[in-house]
Amino acid sequence: PYCYAKNGIIDSSAAQIHPMDIGLIRGYGIFDFLRTSNYVPLFLTDYLDRFIRSADKTHLSLKHSKSELAAIIHDLIKKNDLKDGGIRMLLTGGVSDNHFSPENGDLFIFCETLLFPGKEKYENGVKLLSEEHVRIIADIKTTNYAYPVWLSATWKEKGAEDVIYHFDGMVSESSRSNIFMVKDGEVSTPDKHILHGITRKRVLELAPNTKIRPISFEELLQADELFITSTTKKILPITTIDDKKIGNGAVGPTTKKLMADFVEMENKHHSN
Ligand code: PLP
Repeated sequence: PYCYAKNGIIDSSAAQIHPMDIGLIRGYGIFDFLRTSNYVPLFLTDYLDRFIRSADKTHLSLKHSKSELAAIIHDLIKKNDLKDGGIRMLLTGGVSDNHFSPENGDLFIFCETLLFPGKEKYENGVKLLSEEHVRIIADIKTTNYAYPVWLSATWKEKGAEDVIYHFDGMVSESSRSNIFMVKDGEVSTPDKHILHGITRKRVLELAPNTKIRPISFEELLQADELFITSTTKKILPITTIDDKKIGNGAVGPTTKKLMADFVEMENKHHSN
């Protein structure tokens, strides 16, 4: 496979990063991740905007314009024959004397195989473990995911798909996805201490009456339906939190409808 590194498209095996890069030493770097559907990079503009915004906010110098990034991505899709796959953009913090100043980082763009959760998970829903935690600088897509990687051993052991973060009684998001709840037909989602997901944005378009508001952990447990959203999961129903069944324990009608609407939206997007 080919990737973008060293300012050009090269064989992926030749991509290298300096061991003193603060992306590695301090976890100071940014990334973004999108996917292709039938060779179309879905919602590309949104991902590029978020990547550029993350670079700006972290004072990392991204020397490529939005249209240059888009051109590289289209080129990689062609060269790698990437029909349905993932694309990761990564901008490192770079090498600095005191390992503390972001400067001259490297841009990498590479393609990945994408594995969605199994069909049975969409049919029956999955479990999340609650975790008292709040992400700092939550709305910047930094490379620092040390905490959830470390937690994942526990959630795998307990048969959970992921975690749900809450702090001071309030819910924020899952480790790599946003959360939505349905109660008495009304859809809600929190807005604080989250990464503003592109999938979340699409769901808000599909369900424009969604209330964007603070949600307490207690309230979340009393929901009729819950689902999480992300690029790599689309809309995934949650039917258990810790040992508590959500609603009647089955995937609910609002979640099912949104899952179907999402597929339709995606198909429309790549037939245009
Ligand atoms: N929240 C966090 C912390 C994430 O890492 C992600 C995944 O990228 C999301 C939410 C979902 O965002 P998106 O729908 O853009 O993939």
